[in-house]
Amino acid sequence: MKKILVADDEMSIRLLYSEELKEEGYEVYLAANGREALEIVEKIPLDLVILDIKMPEMDGIEALRQIKERRPDLPVLLSTAYGEYRQDFATWASDEYLVKSSDLEDLKAMVKRYLKE
Ligand SMILES: [Mg+2]
Repeated sequence: MKKILVADDEMSIRLLYSEELKEEGYEVYLAANGREALEIVEKIPLDLVILDIKMPEMDGIEALRQIKERRPDLPVLLSTAYGEYRQDFATWASDEYLVKSSDLEDLKAMVKRYLKE
């Protein structure tokens, strides 16, 4: 079973993403900030990470940088409600960028594209 980490400081988002992705047949891990996300990246052989940008303690941009140092091969999707981050050069290091919405079809299609054998 493919393993996905969802890092978001909003519990409602974590629960929503986790429910939908489990339904698609993935094993889902959850983190509330970048620091927790890195701990999981170090412990679990993940297949994909979905990172919120705005999080306390360690934000998604810094977490992305550190994840790519440890696992350059691991696909990371950055997720945010704020479209202006698309302009930020640091987000170029992510594999994809997606804007949060209650419709998770884009997210699920993107995940499927990265995780197909
Ligand atoms: Mg956030």
